[in-house]
Amino acid sequence: MASSNEFLDYTTVVVVFTSTVDKRRIVECCQIGKDIPKSRTFGYKFKSCPTPGCQPVPADMHVHNHGVKVHLRCLKCNWRSVSAKTDMDNKHFKRVNKLVVPQLFWHHFPPSTDLQNYFVELTNNEQAQPHQNKGKKGRDQQGKSKCRAEIVADVQDDSEMAGDQ
Ligand SMILES: [Zn+2]
Repeated sequence: MASSNEFLDYTTVVVVFTSTVDKRRIVECCQIGKDIPKSRTFGYKFKSCPTPGCQPVPADMHVHNHGVKVHLRCLKCNWRSVSAKTDMDNKHFKRVNKLVVPQLFWHHFPPSTDLQNYFVELTNNEQAQPHQNKGKKGRDQQGKSKCRAEIVADVQDDSEMAGDQ
């Protein structure tokens, strides 16, 4: 897979094998995919959107790459995730061989709900940080200034993306 993985541009592969843990044989199952900019982040096609009632298909979830950073945007409701980095392992996606094929990641198969929600969770966690967008329900004054800051950030982000295309 290190020397010839062109087929992973179009599909993923599921590997089933047995291993021995505490003298018991267990069956393991993992899926390997290639990280493809604008398409398959960490080798996986995400489609989870946190907006109530929004049910995007994978084609609705646009992948935006900026160097090693990647974020998703839902074309149906305009939700935008925070960025994740594609040059390192995370709790769900691990590189198969970070030196030889850094773009190949594996994850447990079938993918858990947790995995499918990776970007949603990442975004929720970041927004729950004290320094980020907190206190929306707080005093009016504070609420207003934060809203304005958010709008500015959004506009900047959109113009950045326009520049990239
Ligand atoms: Zn959405």
